[in-house]
Amino acid sequence: MKIPSPVSNGIPNADHAAVELVALTKNYGSDKPAVDGINLRIASGSYCCLLGPSGCGKSTTLRMIAGHESVTSGDVLLEDRNITDLPAAARGTAMMFQSFALFPHLSALDNVAFSLKMKGVDKAARHKQAGDLLERVAMGHLSLRKPAELSGGQQQRVALARALITQPKVLLLDEPLSALDPFLRIQMRAELRRWQKELGLTFVHVTHSQEEAMALADTMVVMNHGVIEQMGSPHEIYNHPVSEFVARFMGGHNVLDTPAGKISVRTDHVQLAPDTPGFPDGAGNKRAVISDIEYQGTYVLVGLQYPGKTLSANATAEVSVMVPESQFDRQPYQLGQSVQLTWLPEASHALVH
Ligand code: ADP
Ligand code: MG
Repeated sequence: MKIPSPVSNGIPNADHAAVELVALTKNYGSDKPAVDGINLRIASGSYCCLLGPSGCGKSTTLRMIAGHESVTSGDVLLEDRNITDLPAAARGTAMMFQSFALFPHLSALDNVAFSLKMKGVDKAARHKQAGDLLERVAMGHLSLRKPAELSGGQQQRVALARALITQPKVLLLDEPLSALDPFLRIQMRAELRRWQKELGLTFVHVTHSQEEAMALADTMVVMNHGVIEQMGSPHEIYNHPVSEFVARFMGGHNVLDTPAGKISVRTDHVQLAPDTPGFPDGAGNKRAVISDIEYQGTYVLVGLQYPGKTLSANATAEVSVMVPESQFDRQPYQLGQSVQLTWLPEASHALVH
């Protein structure tokens, strides 16, 4: 499919890769590489999230793109230029760190101008550039404040301006929101998303939070043990997880054993009904016993176990069903109650492993 090309309107350009990783590998010396031959094209102007559990190789991948970590084998390309062996400052990438990492004793303006000062740019010129960038992120009026005199959102914008002063083509962010309290985290992620679209830049953002990745990403790259398990839009991945790992990591999915292999069914795609005699037990129909009821506000999460006789391989087979609160209130269930589970054939997806 061809996507229209302008980057400035916020539509990622799929034909044009901002970053391309070719068989990229990092081995720190143990028998198992931290990053194991990954291939990835990140569309120009897109918001890409590298997602996966702690230790899966996200930061190592990002640091190899940034030039903060040497590459064992493979290549990193930026706009078709091979940058694998270039120093960090010559790559056209910039990094934004956790909690913004601003210098507390410097004004917003001097924080943004800092890297130009290191390059020997004279004061008037660097203040002009830094001031222009602060204007661009709507912080011009606060440019003389120190970080402690700015809100979290304002600090993030200063950090963004500081990263942008090197005129990067790609902004790299390693868990930028994970040290913030939950309320601020949600505000800041909406801001990040908005600035990425306004600036039309490519963002590569590392996170272990599937919720954060789904909220932000055009493209999500789910990693596990140094390899890419699946990549696609949040919608594609949430609706069609390819593997048991992705289904379980994303949450909201049941992984079920069937004679034909493992399948996934979303917890909100399973219907519950009180048990009736003669209910057929087969594909898409299961009898189960309620083992858990959790109130979650807009829905009630009902945990179930299969009665012993229908268990296939393991005795702990479990299913979760998300029942909308209004439906649960009309038809409440009790712990220990025997119920029927049904789902439509199109709600179940075969898992490859
Ligand atoms: P993530 O960011 O996904 O949590 P990392 O990329 O930091 O994962 O780490 C991937 C693997 O590489 C882990 O097993 C980690 O222990 C190992 N690792 C990371 N950095 C180093 C290092 N500097 N030296 C040795 N091993 C490292
Ligand atoms: Mg990390």
